[in-house]
Amino acid sequence: MTLRAALREIVGQGAVVAAPGDRAAFETDWRGIARHAALCVVLPDSAAQVAAVVKCCADAGVGIVPQGGNTGLVAGGVPAPGGGQVILNLRRLHQIRALDPVGDTMTVEAGATLHAARAVAAGAGKLFPISFGAEGSAQIGGIISTNAGGMQVLSYGSTRAQVLGLEVVLADGRIWDGLNALRKDNTGFDLKQLFIGAEGTLGIITAATLRLYPAPSAQACALAGVADVAAGLELFTRIRHQCGPALTLCEFIDGPAMRLGAAHTPGGRLPFAAPAYVLLELSALDADATPAATLERLLARAMEAGVALDAVIAQSAREALGFIAMREAVSEGELREGGAVKHDIAVPLAVIPEMVAAVERLVAETYPDCRLNVFGHLGDGNLHINIRPPAGQGLASLASRKEAMTADVEALAVARGGSFSAEHGIGQFRLAGMRAHKPAVDLELMRALKAALDPHNLFNPGKLLPGKGTS
Ligand SMILES: Cc1cc2nc3c(=O)[nH]c(=O)nc-3n(C[C@H](O)[C@H](O)[C@H](O)COP(=O)(O)OP(=O)(O)OC[C@H]3O[C@@H](n4cnc5c(N)ncnc54)[C@H](O)[C@@H]3O)c2cc1C
Repeated sequence: MTLRAALREIVGQGAVVAAPGDRAAFETDWRGIARHAALCVVLPDSAAQVAAVVKCCADAGVGIVPQGGNTGLVAGGVPAPGGGQVILNLRRLHQIRALDPVGDTMTVEAGATLHAARAVAAGAGKLFPISFGAEGSAQIGGIISTNAGGMQVLSYGSTRAQVLGLEVVLADGRIWDGLNALRKDNTGFDLKQLFIGAEGTLGIITAATLRLYPAPSAQACALAGVADVAAGLELFTRIRHQCGPALTLCEFIDGPAMRLGAAHTPGGRLPFAAPAYVLLELSALDADATPAATLERLLARAMEAGVALDAVIAQSAREALGFIAMREAVSEGELREGGAVKHDIAVPLAVIPEMVAAVERLVAETYPDCRLNVFGHLGDGNLHINIRPPAGQGLASLASRKEAMTADVEALAVARGGSFSAEHGIGQFRLAGMRAHKPAVDLELMRALKAALDPHNLFNPGKLLPGKGTS
């Protein structure tokens, strides 16, 4: 029996996609850059089916690419060059298995979208605090496998901080039941941590128990104008100093990026013109708290001190969502207007202004025909430094220079004690950064873990770990 026929026996006739035209969307990454043919796409609907698919592929010696919503930005969820693997898409495993309002936990299957999980939590008066532009498609298994960040890491931490337990299908087809809902469990290695951020290279996550928080009773959102990133950082530190974790969002968006985001948001309109913008949100649990008044007072002081140039506080939840939508639309805007050579760096907060100045010098001196967008999660030291092709040209026009651009930007971050990939992971697109910057001992330990958990390199071959001898 062929592998495809064996897979059809496990998941049913309609849950194996084999025709090239039907496979295309699963084989192509969100940005349309990577596309390599899979043997087929398989859509199991239970952990038992995932386990049977894994066993079947292991017996046939065919690699598996775990795939969630396929919104990852480093082509981790699509086949690597050479192709020929089975894409195992989790979208049919989307049940909310349990919600415990006393323990503040929720057990969710891997294929539930982030948006659906957040909506179920909200329906119970709870918050699941991971949030970003692609949450309508990104899945719980995908955000865990990439340890996704997003806009509220500042206050709640990244996805890793939200995971209490996991259920994972291992390379030999066993199901590891680690769906622990405990806040404390010091009984040896914390095995779930191995699978968080592993980008599907060590196992397939089928369900997770997640930490929930009380939903805020009151929130205020403001858009402030600043002269540059140094002023943005000063505004952040002033407000953080006054508000601590009540400051739940602080995004920096330079002028060109913000104008692009506004242009690609239905009804998007910037309330004032500024060289750069900072988006802020204050949250309060106390129903009597008045975060809007606090934000207004702090922004007025910042304007008196010349730190902020202008500011508008959203007058309604709808207006606040409009501000956030413009920030979230920057990636989509870049994609629709010719694309960008994207970077996702993190540096210690204090060196952000110097890092951005170094990038501006780099672009002005070495890539003067290109346009720069700098935006991202200021409070986490995580900036997206995206170099856009000259006006009217597409990403293909940068083909001969894009590797050098990325090497240049990543080296600037690493030289300042930073990371060359802060929240998007490695996938296929950041392998050169791994070779250039990941210390040899780190790579050896990572390869030892891979060999222990997936000795036949079944899961996501060609991703995350650069080939031996090339590091
Ligand atoms: C518009 C936009 C905005 C974004 N904003 C942010 C942001 O602010 N912060 C941020 O961190 N990221 C952001 N991202 C990228 C982010 O990493 C992904 O959106 C998300 O985390 C991936 O989820 P997914 O379900 O789409 O996974 P996929 O793209 O399908 O897969 C991502 C990786 O996880 C693996 N994987 C998926 N599911 C499983 C599973 N069940 N078990 C094992 N491995 C699995 C895949 O093999 C792959 O390596 C953004 C993306 C877009 C398009």
